[in-house]
Amino acid sequence: MKQDAMYQALGISAPVLKFGEQILEGLKERFEAIDEMAEFNQLKVLKAMQDNKVSDIHFAATTGYGYNDLGRDTLEAVYASVFHAEDALVRPQLISGTHALHVALSGNLRPGDELLSPVGKPYDTLEEVIGIRESVGSLKEYGVSYRQVDLFEDGSFDFEGIRAAINEKTKLVTIQRSKGYATRPTLSVERIGELIQFVKSIKPDVICMVDNCYGEFVEDREPIDVGADMMVGSLIKNPGGGLAPIGGYIVGRKDCIERASYRLSAPGLGKEVGASLGLNQSFYQGLFLAPTVVAGALKGAIFAANVYEKLGFDVVPNGSESRHDIIQAVTFGTPEGVIGFCEGIQAAAPVDSFVTPEPWDMPGYDAPVIMAAGAFVQGSSIELSADGPIKPPYAVYFQGGLTWYHAKFGILKSLQRLVERGLIHLPA
Ligand SMILES: *Cc1c(COP(=O)(O)O)cnc(C)c1O
Repeated sequence: MKQDAMYQALGISAPVLKFGEQILEGLKERFEAIDEMAEFNQLKVLKAMQDNKVSDIHFAATTGYGYNDLGRDTLEAVYASVFHAEDALVRPQLISGTHALHVALSGNLRPGDELLSPVGKPYDTLEEVIGIRESVGSLKEYGVSYRQVDLFEDGSFDFEGIRAAINEKTKLVTIQRSKGYATRPTLSVERIGELIQFVKSIKPDVICMVDNCYGEFVEDREPIDVGADMMVGSLIKNPGGGLAPIGGYIVGRKDCIERASYRLSAPGLGKEVGASLGLNQSFYQGLFLAPTVVAGALKGAIFAANVYEKLGFDVVPNGSESRHDIIQAVTFGTPEGVIGFCEGIQAAAPVDSFVTPEPWDMPGYDAPVIMAAGAFVQGSSIELSADGPIKPPYAVYFQGGLTWYHAKFGILKSLQRLVERGLIHLPA
């Protein structure tokens, strides 16, 4: 093939390329199903933009207080439409997923309330938000208590444990869709719906919030469609489509969004302030591209799963199971494996391909983390990126790719690196 010479010029050897192509042969049907999902979600986004009469006037910049920012308000209406929610907060002032989750939680919880996670330990950075790890300014300091019910070994819900944990103080239930840095399975929208139904059958007025990071547009439904009151995510992951340079979103019930907005700005100000500073066009355009970008990332994740599964590594999800987020975990079992994989991803990047990633003590994490990202937007993980905490079981979490071809190249490059280091031997 014409591209073989290019792969060679970029450092992929013939045996590595051949191995990759053999794996791809078996993935045609799955890739077709992903394309179909992208087509559906593309139409969903398009319809929301048309229904809300998006126009070039909405791309104009506002500054200062940002009163009457028509572009911002319409963008929030579009998000509400896409996700079938009553209202939305979509802001560059939500600086990350963690921040958006903090705003949603602290805006809706009051002293004396209890927060429950019925799906085990939440994402690392939330431990300090909640106060699971002592932290100044945590919800715990404000008198919000926390309870957790772990999933069973097989990933199923501990319904009896959840029933016992819900009490008169339980105000908000947080459900994390994606696995984060755990090796449990990601929750499907269907399972999230079952869990919400169960929780509401015990306590109907409890607020069910879903941390939707990495899940957007992977399925044809989202957690709001199955009863979530709030859904939260980052714009430098799926819904920003790679174009949003910053931002987070919270969508959901009107009263929940209103309370969150008073926490984001100030009581009395809420959604009325917050200049969009010229970022609106990238938010709209990124959302427009997101279904296609997510499809490319998903193909990359499935390709990686099949490559490393074939080579005998433990992969979550496995090569054939259904997908509910764009994350792929590969357990290498050694620091060298994690580091080599990340070096390969870095070397495949369009930006900073020449630098070598090293483990470091990132704020918010309890072990050194190595991160590979040669991204146009710093820290963007809808772009091809990999990271892993340097602690057992030495798993790497791989995600993103603005195009499928780049994701494919990144995976081949990581494989090449591990083969060259003698950490992997390709089957004869
Ligand atoms: C990424 C992520 C977060 C935090 O988002 P940041 O933008 O990194 O702060 C929270 N929860 C999950 C499941 C995530 O994947």
